[in-house]
Amino acid sequence: MNRKYRKTVIAGNWKMNMLPSQVKGFAEELKNISPKAKWCETVICAPYVDLPAAVKAFKDLRISVGAENLNENPKGAFTGEVSSAMLCDLGVKYVILGHSERRQYYGETDAGVNRKVLVALEAGLTPIVCVGESLEQREMGITLEHIALQVKSALYGVPAEKVRRVVIAYEPIWAIGTGKTATAQQAGEVCSAIRNVIRELYGARVARSVTIQYGGSMNEKNAAELLAQPDIDGGLIGGASLVPEKFAAIIAAANQE
Ligand code: PEP
Repeated sequence: MNRKYRKTVIAGNWKMNMLPSQVKGFAEELKNISPKAKWCETVICAPYVDLPAAVKAFKDLRISVGAENLNENPKGAFTGEVSSAMLCDLGVKYVILGHSERRQYYGETDAGVNRKVLVALEAGLTPIVCVGESLEQREMGITLEHIALQVKSALYGVPAEKVRRVVIAYEPIWAIGTGKTATAQQAGEVCSAIRNVIRELYGARVARSVTIQYGGSMNEKNAAELLAQPDIDGGLIGGASLVPEKFAAIIAAANQE
């Protein structure tokens, strides 16, 4: 973490796991045990149908709410889809884009992720852009090339003043939901390479202001060590964000002085 130049952001990704009727109870439990977020911004990203309840329940806790996706079009005949304007209207502040599950199961491409990033920024949402290599790519030694391509594609056409509002989440696919965490050194190395890509594109001042998270089986036990890496400015947390005690412990690790 480097709090001098950029925000630390701890974000939960509930995926398709929490019912709207469970949101209030979760928020109450978290409120009882969660430390006051002194240094870090805390976010819960939730399924669309949970968002109204989440915005209401987390307001008191000063936790921002994010969506897990959006449609790249501003409005129109796109049955079943949700626009950036709809999310903003609800009071949503963040949106996860390009999660590996969306790339893998719903055919999301780098170009599509880029269109969504542009739409999100235009609406005033903070995109959390996920990038990450597969195990095969890591073993072939092409992790950094693959990630550089994903980052450059996602940021194509994004002006410097808006890049500061983008959060990049480095999520090695082999570490998501598997219990296998990248070592702090592996994660730190890739996050630092991501910052170098941003430096190449936008210069050093912009690069040092961008928040880069690590995601992939981050939990209450490994969070402090991962967050101690200079280029890891927070976490995107799946499984552990569904358990108030675990999520609170990760927030506490990010709050440590
Ligand atoms: C994720 O899906 O973004 C994630 C990091 O999941 P988990 O923490 O469960 O590995």
